[in-house]
Amino acid sequence: MEENSTTNIKLHEMYAVNPVEGVMPSSQPNEFIVSSWGNVDNKDMAIFVDMAALIKVYRHAKSSSQKEVGGFLIGYPMLEKEKLFVQITDVTPAQHVRSTGEALSFSHQTWKMLDCQMSERFRDKYVLGWYHTHPGIGLFLSPYDTFIHNHFFSLFWQIALVIDPATENHMFFSKKNKKLAESGNYFYTQRTEDNARSLKRMTDRLKIAQKRERSGRYKRHSMAG
Ligand SMILES: [Zn+2]
Repeated sequence: MEENSTTNIKLHEMYAVNPVEGVMPSSQPNEFIVSSWGNVDNKDMAIFVDMAALIKVYRHAKSSSQKEVGGFLIGYPMLEKEKLFVQITDVTPAQHVRSTGEALSFSHQTWKMLDCQMSERFRDKYVLGWYHTHPGIGLFLSPYDTFIHNHFFSLFWQIALVIDPATENHMFFSKKNKKLAESGNYFYTQRTEDNARSLKRMTDRLKIAQKRERSGRYKRHSMAG
């Protein structure tokens, strides 16, 4: 942990940033198709996630049905007329993580690799937060997850994403009144006919996933039984 903390302080110095002026994808209807998912509240920070980036997260999540996997959410924190929003443009898997099947921990190497990627592949972008999976255990933040978040992703606009590969559902968490709370999100994608079809397919699938999640039948304990 000590090594992580030191690296993290450095990360924060490098990536700490105040949101800059920007335009929400939903304010650019000629360029983007936008669709909301879950409970989105106008009062809260809006989370826009590129459809292709979320598909990548799901692929990564489904590659490991037993052990937790995770990664980082990359993009921009921005303000449109003083309204805060984040735009997730890219995701990248966390390398060299330790997973016990119950919890995921980042190593010194994980941060080093991220550092490298941020200065090369994602040069002008920021670490918006992290994602990790809860195979068969549902969508929530454990006390350990909350610790990780507050320790490594403590900037007010940094977010967490939890995916359950068993139910194929996800949930974002963001700071509301300084506490982490569930948040809906917006998907966005370039306006093309193909993308419109893909987005519809994705939201249809998510609706089914949500039903699965609510039924509770796909939890690990019942799967094992
Ligand atoms: Zn967790």
